[in-house]
Amino acid sequence: MFSKKFQRKYALTDQGLRNTKKGAFWTVIVNLVVMGGMGILYLLTGGFMNTLITGSPLPSAMLPISLTILFLVLSFLTHLQQYRATYGLVYNEVRETRLGMAERLRRLPLGYFGKRDVADLTETLMGDVNRMEHVWSHVLGYLYGAYISTAIIAVCLLVYDWRLAIACLWGVPVAFGLLFGSRKMAARASERTKKAALRVSDGIQEALENVREIRATNQEDLYLERLYRKIDEHERIMTRGELGTGVFVNAASVIMRLGVATTILTGAGLILSGQIDFMLLFLFLLVITRIYAPFDQSLALIAEMIISQVSADRITELYETPTAAGSSRFAPEGHDIVFEHVDFAYDEKEVLHDVSFTAKEGEVTALVGPSGSGKSTCARLAARLWDVTKGRILVGGVDISTVDPEVLLTDYSMVFQDVVLFDDTVMENIRLGKRGATDAEVIAAAQAANCEEFVSRLPQGYDTPIGENGARLSGGERQRISIARALLKDAPILLLDEATASLDVENETKVQEALSRLLRGKTVLVIAHRMRTVEAADKIIVLSGGQVAEEGSPSDLMSRNGLFRHMVELQKQSSGWRLR
Ligand code: ADP
Repeated sequence: MFSKKFQRKYALTDQGLRNTKKGAFWTVIVNLVVMGGMGILYLLTGGFMNTLITGSPLPSAMLPISLTILFLVLSFLTHLQQYRATYGLVYNEVRETRLGMAERLRRLPLGYFGKRDVADLTETLMGDVNRMEHVWSHVLGYLYGAYISTAIIAVCLLVYDWRLAIACLWGVPVAFGLLFGSRKMAARASERTKKAALRVSDGIQEALENVREIRATNQEDLYLERLYRKIDEHERIMTRGELGTGVFVNAASVIMRLGVATTILTGAGLILSGQIDFMLLFLFLLVITRIYAPFDQSLALIAEMIISQVSADRITELYETPTAAGSSRFAPEGHDIVFEHVDFAYDEKEVLHDVSFTAKEGEVTALVGPSGSGKSTCARLAARLWDVTKGRILVGGVDISTVDPEVLLTDYSMVFQDVVLFDDTVMENIRLGKRGATDAEVIAAAQAANCEEFVSRLPQGYDTPIGENGARLSGGERQRISIARALLKDAPILLLDEATASLDVENETKVQEALSRLLRGKTVLVIAHRMRTVEAADKIIVLSGGQVAEEGSPSDLMSRNGLFRHMVELQKQSSGWRLR
């Protein structure tokens, strides 16, 4: 029970937990061995003092020498073990954690990535794990080992002489109390620092992404000034946070050291009143020098641990986000998509309410409606990028929430507005549609998607690298690559988000031609922006405010005097398009 909580608190893997226990165990042993060294010193001094005071002959040198050698050997061996159990093993832990997180990311609902900032996720995977690496290797084992060994030594001291023990140890709980009291403050400061750092990296990312617009509108100075302000703010927040924890750590260290003074005072009093002899005070003073050492180290470590708690929480949060699981068997009868009383909310706010409709196999079903009415959300839900809050979505009679998303998606092609292209050749970018497709298949798909004409103009044809995210291609060309991918994949269900960005007439015609080849015989759900597509659809679902306002064939809906007709008229006025 405690183990589980501990593991969760510090975002440890099972192996990491075992390693930490091992590290703590060896730290206890090391601390006890060091204390044993103090014992040897005490015995030796005792012997000398005896000779000095009573004039009796010096005890044999054999015993101290052999004890010292034993101490050195033990000390070396235990330190070595401690080193292995703490530093050595942690590198595995870092690797395991990153792999575990990557595996987790793979199985998260895809929609999660839309919700969380990518810069933030990268920061968790790299930055937070890095910060935790230090905590795992340098902090946890040492700190908990120090707790345990100090408790053992404290009990021994109390048994030896409780008055001196209290004089020597009172500072420890006070110092820790002070640190833990300041924990909330430190955690808040750390959270603020992290947010400020994220604002800086977001700012830089934004500036890089929009560099063209910024230059075109002569806003460099404005942008830089905003960025500088963010950087200054980050620095200020970080300094303030570090100052805050620094004050507490140093105060705690000073308080703990006051124990030396109280021990001397108490010891002197006790010696004067004849209750103890000098050697006992000497023993306590020897022990004191060692008992504070692991804590002095840990005070700084605790501060680090408190600060890193934010990182641990972020890693744990990722681990605990429910994954989208499901059966790896998917045997639908046909590919009709049926929404049954679907409710959906991204966060608290409901964006779809009681949505029911059917998109039939072999037909084009168009989703239309004002912006923000929930069209894209419907398309995302249909592919289980998110799970519905209420109701069901069936594909060929199978509830898609029971199917492993990876398996489900083999039956889907998606052509969305933001086509993602990789810095590779045209050929490889299209081949992504179907792993292992031959060059001939890729080229056939590219031809059907009307890519041939622009590919032949590229310097190395299909083997031309297209630059990062297809920087060398126009919007229409990128779309055609995405269509070629979908053609190659030839999945029975097609989700399509038409471009709102206006393509030039030639490009648009080519894209339309390519699309019409792609649509044949599929279950097509299209987020329609163009009247041409709407006209050609078999069925139209009009969404408004997250609900189905109207549905039917285009001519049906035109004959009604509803939202659809109103939208068509607005478009006719603005673009001159006519409905058949
Ligand atoms: P449409 O495609 O019709 O323009 P959307 O489905 O994109 O509409 O959006 C429907 C509603 O859901 C809007 O109010 C939008 O603000 C909200 N929304 C869309 N995506 C997200 C998201 N990832 N997180 C939170 N809210 C979202």
